[in-house]
Amino acid sequence: MARQGRDRHSGPSGQPRAGGDRVAGQLTGRRVAIVGGGPAGLAAAERLAEIGHAVTVYERMPTFGRKFLLAGKSGLNLTHSEDFARFATRFGAASPRLQAALAAFTPEDVRAWAAGLGSETFVGSSGRVFPTAMKASPLLRAWLRRLEGLGVALRPRHHWLGFTETGALRLQAPEGEIEARADAVLLALGGASWPRLGSDGAWLPRLAAEGIPARPFRPANCGFDRDWSADFATRFAGEPVKAVAALSDAGRSQGEFVVTRHGIEGSLVYAHAAALRDRLERDGAAALTLDLAPGRQQADLERSLARQPDKASFANRLRKGAGLAGVKAALLREVLGAPTPDPVQLAAAIKALPLDVLRPRPLDEAISSAGGLDFAGLTPDFMLRDRPGLFAAGEMLDWEAPTGGYLLTACFATGRAAAMGLARWLEEPAG
Ligand SMILES: Cc1cc2nc3c(=O)[nH]c(=O)nc-3n(C[C@H](O)[C@H](O)[C@H](O)COP(=O)(O)OP(=O)(O)OC[C@H]3O[C@@H](n4cnc5c(N)ncnc54)[C@H](O)[C@@H]3O)c2cc1C
Repeated sequence: MARQGRDRHSGPSGQPRAGGDRVAGQLTGRRVAIVGGGPAGLAAAERLAEIGHAVTVYERMPTFGRKFLLAGKSGLNLTHSEDFARFATRFGAASPRLQAALAAFTPEDVRAWAAGLGSETFVGSSGRVFPTAMKASPLLRAWLRRLEGLGVALRPRHHWLGFTETGALRLQAPEGEIEARADAVLLALGGASWPRLGSDGAWLPRLAAEGIPARPFRPANCGFDRDWSADFATRFAGEPVKAVAALSDAGRSQGEFVVTRHGIEGSLVYAHAAALRDRLERDGAAALTLDLAPGRQQADLERSLARQPDKASFANRLRKGAGLAGVKAALLREVLGAPTPDPVQLAAAIKALPLDVLRPRPLDEAISSAGGLDFAGLTPDFMLRDRPGLFAAGEMLDWEAPTGGYLLTACFATGRAAAMGLARWLEEPAG
């Protein structure tokens, strides 16, 4: 890409000013366009406006941060309180690529930033961090007010269509197609889940066709299809399965999930979703192994089941011998087919019930997506190697993480890191 029409000789010399010291009127004279008004784009806008650049955020939807607001419906898990060294490993193969950005905007920084916008946070019993209001709207409102106060121009209903031959942005605006020029551009277009909220991933094939390395989007933190019997699906769809442990290539974890008409959903499933998806892709088959009685030893269950009278029904045997009833007992029947009275086999099944899954639920239902711009095509400053002056941040990059506040933290952190990279690039002497 050409340098986005940037005049390389007109800017100030010296380093960008530190954040927070912007004085109205002391602008750098540099114009930055950000495309995408979600958490990553807004975080980048805040950082660049603090430095003193003239920032415009273009967003295709009528309002900003729609997915952020939706995340607020389930409490807005902003970040996680675990040890930072552990936190920074949650991003799979991409963890090393995100390390510097996360270290520069840590979970503690996220909490301080939210508090600065009037949203105090608390640590839930799982270590997850939420605003005390348990929703996103007050935080988003305060954030947008701060951005306007910093002079950021917010342009909703501006759909980015690509670049002109001279490097200007092509935008579908309310008044028709327009062109916009900037000294540098930062894309924060999001992933491809929940496309009706604005991030539809349509940019990916377009950039990939221009030779920019990118990986196809895949669902992450998603449910899975499974062939329930008609009877089981009718009786138990919507039923939570609580206090169970699950085992997959991702390891063992405890929690709960929900039976759906199509299969399984919920936080315990999301924790294993990437492992199940990858195994399905590799082997064509995958199973989540359930421990329906995580608080009991297998030998203890065997003894207790063996004590049940021979004439006891299967339901009574499970209820009295293993404390299992309702959906958990039905799951055993569903997976085992013919229920066995043998206490050894039954105890083994209770402790390790293989729940085959067929395929991930579609991308548009997933909490997040894997895939996007390949890190191989990005500099450590989040600039596209082949397009000087074009930066990218947020879920549109090829990383994924479980739920737990990791997604939003990485979006804030990469938004800010890409902004700092862009600011450094603008300061480079003309080459
Ligand atoms: C139901 C749900 C619950 C979630 N809960 C949590 C949670 O509790 N904690 C957590 O950490 N994460 C959560 N997430 C994930 C989190 O919301 C996302 O990872 C995050 O919003 C991604 O930020 P982003 O800025 O990269 O992209 P987005 O938030 O998707 O923003 C990208 C923006 O770019 C705009 N855009 C796209 N294409 C164009 C274009 N061509 N022109 C102009 N604008 C364009 C879109 O309209 C969108 O507004 C949840 C997600 C969902 C779906």
